[in-house]
Amino acid sequence: MRLASLLVDDRPVLAVRQDHRYLDLTAVDPTLGADVGALLASGPDWRLRADRAASQASALPTEGLRWRPVIPAPPKLLCMGLNDADHAAEAGLPVPEHPVVFARVASSLIGHREPMLRPVESTLLDYEVELAVVIGQAGRRIPIQDALAHVAGYTVFNDGSVRDFQVRTPQWTLGKNFHGTGALGPELVTADALPPGAVGLRLRTEVDGEVLQDGDTAAMIFDVPRTISLLSQVVAFEPGDVIAMGTPSGIGHARTPPRYLRAGQVCRVSVERVGVLENPVVDDPATAGASSSPRLLNRGAR
Ligand code: ZN
Repeated sequence: MRLASLLVDDRPVLAVRQDHRYLDLTAVDPTLGADVGALLASGPDWRLRADRAASQASALPTEGLRWRPVIPAPPKLLCMGLNDADHAAEAGLPVPEHPVVFARVASSLIGHREPMLRPVESTLLDYEVELAVVIGQAGRRIPIQDALAHVAGYTVFNDGSVRDFQVRTPQWTLGKNFHGTGALGPELVTADALPPGAVGLRLRTEVDGEVLQDGDTAAMIFDVPRTISLLSQVVAFEPGDVIAMGTPSGIGHARTPPRYLRAGQVCRVSVERVGVLENPVVDDPATAGASSSPRLLNRGAR
């Protein structure tokens, strides 16, 4: 099952994809909520109720649809750093013994095809393709062997990073949280549609059609079950939490010469069988006290 959080003429809609169409689940059963995060939080039988609604749902018009971040406001968005040996090497850092984790704020997120904003404060905006895990079942201190039962599904993340802000202090938080830089979606693919732990899927980044990252989810140092287990020692996971699993090598910042995203480019990241997430890069024209981002509109519609 492929679920999406859409805006239809500014109305938030939980949708399921069927072939090339989206079906409106919110209209059939409003108790499912109006986005994928709300669905996952609506109760442990969300899948059963979503399936039931899908059998009665009608297709949305294809025009005027916009994608929100597939989970518009994750309770937690935790990101793995350096979770690929080649990427750690290009960053000049050792392969981590313990998971390197930072957090992103939900307001930094954008949906499929929304503009990825290059801030006025930096020219060092960079891409990172990642597999993202979406938690469907709450848990704390989850044993490795039980971890995959807590996964609702998977989506694609572009961990847009502003490198000067990221590396000029030991904490990466600011460089990882510029407004309108983190794309999440376009769809959540339920776990039953993929190999266990989403292992062995190709990860790619293309900028204006040129392939700049080409990795495999099998190369992760900490795989999905181990990551969930380790992080759940610390946090209590709840439905709608997102874990970004880290990027393979090929980031723009580590290239010779370095390459950063510029206005007018299109950044397309993909995870095999999960989805293709595409965003135009736009200079953020926001001035003090104002924001250009449609995210504010999205959030208002929630
Ligand atoms: Zn990342």
